[in-house]
Amino acid sequence: MAANCLFCKIAKGEIAAQKVFENEHVFGFVDIHSQAKIHLLFVHKKHTANINEMSGDPEAIAQMFRGIAEYTKGCELSKNGYRVVTNQGPDAGQTVFHTHFHIVGGEALGHFGR
Ligand code: 5GP
Ligand code: ZN
Repeated sequence: MAANCLFCKIAKGEIAAQKVFENEHVFGFVDIHSQAKIHLLFVHKKHTANINEMSGDPEAIAQMFRGIAEYTKGCELSKNGYRVVTNQGPDAGQTVFHTHFHIVGGEALGHFGR
């Protein structure tokens, strides 16, 4: 837990969020400013600031993607797929510095870029 980290607090239940998934390692919840029919955020309970930092903990990465797979297999996203996005740093528009993976879908998505 990093002091004053929004997503650490959400993962611990100290700040309310619409939870969709939780296991020992991973927490999934609805993004407050949805950009698609379905827009979720998945975080690891262990704080890292970004994917570069998380890359030092391969087991956390595996746990992250196992959690995403476990959740998506059981919901409507399994039908037509979904996009996983993570933003690192200012050019990508990262605003919350607890590594998180956007899960976007529920509809056909346009190509992304600029
Ligand atoms: P980033 O821009 O860092 O990749 O993504 C941060 C995401 O967190 C944004 O999509 C934003 O809507 C979402 N977000 C920011 N504050 C909150 C919050 O308090 N609750 C929830 N559920 N999502 C949040
Ligand atoms: Zn955190």
